[in-house]
Amino acid sequence: MKIPRGLQRELKAIVGRDNLVIDRDLLALYGSDASTRNSAPDLAVIPANGDEAEQAVRIAVKNGVPVVPRGAGSGVCGGCVPIRGGMVVSLARMNRIIAIDPENHLARVSPGVINNELKLAAAEHGLFYPPDPASLKFCTLGGNVATGAGGPSAVKYGVTRDYVRALDCVLADGSRVGFGTACAKGVAGYDICRLLVGSEGTLALFTEITLALVPRPTAEAVFLLSTNSARGAADLVAPILRVTTPRALEFMDQTAVELVKDRLPLGLADQGAALLLIELDGDSETVAIQKRILNDFLRHRPEVKGLSEAATPEEAEELRAARRSLSAASFKLNPDKINEDVVVPRTKIPELVDFVHHTGRELAIPVFTFGHAGDGNLHVNIMIDKKNPRQREAGAEARKKLFRRVIAMGGTITGEHGVGLSKRKFLPEEIPPTGLGVMAGIKKAFDPGNLMNPGKIFPDSPPAV
Ligand SMILES: Cc1cc2nc3c(=O)[nH]c(=O)nc-3n(C[C@H](O)[C@H](O)[C@H](O)COP(=O)(O)OP(=O)(O)OC[C@H]3O[C@@H](n4cnc5c(N)ncnc54)[C@H](O)[C@@H]3O)c2cc1C
Repeated sequence: MKIPRGLQRELKAIVGRDNLVIDRDLLALYGSDASTRNSAPDLAVIPANGDEAEQAVRIAVKNGVPVVPRGAGSGVCGGCVPIRGGMVVSLARMNRIIAIDPENHLARVSPGVINNELKLAAAEHGLFYPPDPASLKFCTLGGNVATGAGGPSAVKYGVTRDYVRALDCVLADGSRVGFGTACAKGVAGYDICRLLVGSEGTLALFTEITLALVPRPTAEAVFLLSTNSARGAADLVAPILRVTTPRALEFMDQTAVELVKDRLPLGLADQGAALLLIELDGDSETVAIQKRILNDFLRHRPEVKGLSEAATPEEAEELRAARRSLSAASFKLNPDKINEDVVVPRTKIPELVDFVHHTGRELAIPVFTFGHAGDGNLHVNIMIDKKNPRQREAGAEARKKLFRRVIAMGGTITGEHGVGLSKRKFLPEEIPPTGLGVMAGIKKAFDPGNLMNPGKIFPDSPPAV
């Protein structure tokens, strides 16, 4: 888009010459994320603090320039890709843990703090920040809030949404406002803070986040359970959750296991097994009780082929790291991936697993699945070679069938990645016109000029009110 004269000069005065990006080659770095989408902005700013972010946004919107917040760019749906051009606001320099309040179990952070940095800082106070996306070592807390990120521990501890107490934001008119309360309870007015979680940069830019922390578990036990079939592992999910509350209950079908086999140290990944990774945590007494209950229960289940416990914390971390590496390992199967994060009621996990494998066979492309079976959230990976027209078509067909089936099962098309660009055309399949109309009204109230991350979430843009 045409950037008004004088805008660059004004922005330079706010963020400084080094933090205004106008060089075309450099701008390309702000035009992509972990999806396949790509579109460079017209300029990018890297503010040092909330005041600079506020001023930069105010000037951009006054000039009709779209504003696209950007964390680490690890999103997988094109959420931070500026398809309408405009100004990217990179939160990379706003990466300070402002305060940890051990008495009130709170953290105040700038949005560019990396998820794992907060975990490490909280641990120094005997506290724990549970949300653990597989990208935790590089994604930002601002991005996590904007996408509603989750990870394996969601089955026991919940997702990012459950930890956000308050948000300081810059709105689309350039004003700065706080929503929510640091207190443990609060019902004064509409819960705008919760509404902003998962808003994918389309309603506001977060400049400070207050997050709840919980006491750090002092003991853990990590198990790998193998079964002869994916269906066998899937069948165990709901029954395990009837007898115990694991911190994580992760599923890997045989293809997933094969991809990371050499990273699994316990020798259970042999002979075509599917796996469940089960983590228990608490104090040592609680973990001992849970272990006994789990072992007693699994002893009588015909699906179980083997059960092995990580002997050391290092071995437990190796198992978790192997699971986290699955996304990257998937490219051994084909050069391109359609990666979905559908959710179904957890009793329907077996049906979903069967459906995924059937679809892969029917369309003759590799389709495999792994993920957070404990909360019904599976990553379905449709592996294709985009240069091959047949595979490209089969991939699109597999995705369409998947979403239809998941919605028919009472599920949702996305559990943690968000809608972004890549799923927006499917949103009307899940949310009826009246619901979409309410969402469009909210968007209009926050952002009447459609300047905050335009072209995202809604199938049409500007959204029809
Ligand atoms: C290997 C890999 C594994 C992953 N595993 C998981 C997983 O297990 N669980 C999971 O949930 N996700 C996962 N993801 C996806 C991704 O890491 C998450 O969506 C993450 O929350 C994005 O954070 P980010 O800082 O990279 O945000 P970005 O990608 O930069 O942005 C994502 C969205 O948030 C908005 N945004 C960013 N910062 C702000 C802000 N300060 N204010 C307002 N809006 C903002 C952007 O505009 C965009 O819409 C994975 C990604 C990869 C590459």
